[in-house]
Amino acid sequence: MSETLGLTQLGSPAHYPINSLRERISAKLPDFSVQELPPFDQLAEALDPSRGQYHSTRVLAILEELVQTMNVNFLLGVAPFDLYVPGMNFVFGEARCPGRVAVISTLRLKTDPQTDMSTLGSRVLKEAVHETGHMLGLRHCPDESCVMHFSERLSDTDRKNDAFCSDCSASLRVIEVE
Ligand code: ZN
Ligand code: ZN
Repeated sequence: MSETLGLTQLGSPAHYPINSLRERISAKLPDFSVQELPPFDQLAEALDPSRGQYHSTRVLAILEELVQTMNVNFLLGVAPFDLYVPGMNFVFGEARCPGRVAVISTLRLKTDPQTDMSTLGSRVLKEAVHETGHMLGLRHCPDESCVMHFSERLSDTDRKNDAFCSDCSASLRVIEVE
C-alpha cells in the first residue's frame, strides 16, 4: 500500500499552484499517493511580528496537531510567507526528521517578477522533495547535485537536481525496509 502525502496551502496562495506541485511531486515520488488538501491558515502563533516572518519550527508544531486530524501519513505545508529559525535570517523550509510534517516557503524562490514559471516550478519541486526526504529520515547530503544538499541560498537550489543521489536513494530503501 502506498503512503499518502498531503499538500496544503498555508495562508494565502503560494507563488506556485499547489495542483501543479502535486503533479510534479507525484511524478518524482511514485511510491506516494499525493493529495491536495484544503488550505489552512490558523498560524498566528508562529508569526514573529517584529521580523515579519514565521518561525518555521512553530509552524511544524501546528502542522503536527493538524496532521493528527487528517487521513494522510505525511503533510507538507506550502507557504507564500517568509520562514526563519533563530540564528538564521531565513530558511527555504524545515521538516521533522524523521516525522510527518514539513513546510516550504515559495517567497524566496521567486526572486523577481520575471522569474518564469518553469524555473519557479523546478525550485519549488526541489525544496518539496528535499523536505519530504527529511520526513523520511534523510539528513543533508554532501553531494552538491543531490536534492538533499542543504540550500543556504538560491544558487544552491538551482545547482542541485530534483532527485536523490545514489547514496540517498540507497539510504531511503534501507529506511523503508526497517
Ligand atoms: Zn534540509
Ligand atoms: Zn544525496
